[in-house]
Amino acid sequence: MSGDKPETKIVADGRMSDSHFGAVNTPVYRASTILYPDLAAIKANTQPYTYGRRGTPSTQSFEDAISSLEGAARTVSVTSGIQAIGLAILSVCSAGDHLLMVDSCYEPTRTLCDRTLKRFGVQTTYYAPDDDITAHLKPNTKAVFCESPGSLTFEMQDIAAIAKATHAHGASVLMDNTWATPLFFRPLEHGVDLSIQAATKYIGGHADVMLGYVAANEKHAGRLHQTHGDLGLYASGDDCFLGLRGLRTLAVRLARHQETGLALARWLQGRPEVARILHPGLPGDPGYGLWKRDFSGSCGLFGVVLKPVSEARLAAFVDGLQHFGIGYSWGGFESLIVPAHIRRAVRPFQAEGPVLRIHAGLEDVGDLIADLEKGLERLRT
Ligand SMILES: *Cc1c(COP(=O)(O)O)cnc(C)c1O
Repeated sequence: MSGDKPETKIVADGRMSDSHFGAVNTPVYRASTILYPDLAAIKANTQPYTYGRRGTPSTQSFEDAISSLEGAARTVSVTSGIQAIGLAILSVCSAGDHLLMVDSCYEPTRTLCDRTLKRFGVQTTYYAPDDDITAHLKPNTKAVFCESPGSLTFEMQDIAAIAKATHAHGASVLMDNTWATPLFFRPLEHGVDLSIQAATKYIGGHADVMLGYVAANEKHAGRLHQTHGDLGLYASGDDCFLGLRGLRTLAVRLARHQETGLALARWLQGRPEVARILHPGLPGDPGYGLWKRDFSGSCGLFGVVLKPVSEARLAAFVDGLQHFGIGYSWGGFESLIVPAHIRRAVRPFQAEGPVLRIHAGLEDVGDLIADLEKGLERLRT
């Protein structure tokens, strides 16, 4: 219900038990053809489901629960976060339009813009996450894309200020909100028009599903739905089921990811091998003020800038870790560590030494710290 707290919404919303013999969570629907009872039903076209690609109860339950949490007029699900990013941009930008993209965006977002969108006549330029965007807006700017905190460097953005300037220009605000999830930050409440989520990460939550969605306000719902349909995008019943299943426990998992993430970040901050920590939820971080103003929590993903160290010692540290897997993605139940290769178009990111990205999983925090401690011994000697 609309007045409920987010923790209640993620448990309660999107259920269809009455239509499914009382089953609490909507079961997996695998369907292409949906049958109509007669010709009159085809003509009336009022059936809730018409064809597998256009949605089933599995997709609808997931999308309804997300719309409620995001405060969205409509949500559409797709097969990955990057597909959601592409869809959101294509919903607002056409050939000849300009897209203003934050320079701390997820790397594949940059590639999508610089390579494929360019082929279709969408021109992208970049702005630093803390820039006043007014100077970057062009007569043909149709969209400003935000990601806060940004990938790898975790720089925060003033979303409300960006939304104000963008709307005064008549353009749309798109935001990749994967880090906070709609539990800790709800973009549409801060002026964002299209809220994007790689549900592969915390919403799936178990490193076993690829899923994305775009949630739109009233003004953008029609174009989003249309573009999603025209491109033939959809997410399978199995994947939406896993997304919905993950969503039900998002609040308890995130609370633990947050606690462990902060504990690891604070512990690493006190180590002589570490130059600095990139985590907006830590007092003293350049983004802490904005994080505190706008966000209700932090997730388990943060960066560590090491002091200069040889590649061999860095490898001895990382390769020998027992509880941190080396791999991309994050948001699952397990801890991960990966080197961060930071690319910038407008202002280089200055790092004292190698940058690592850590995902704090649901393991015992003492075990994780002991593992890192042994690792840093290997790094030193
Ligand atoms: C992982 C990620 C994506 C892409 O999600 P996929 O499901 O892997 O396509 C987008 N944005 C951010 C910030 C991410 O971390």
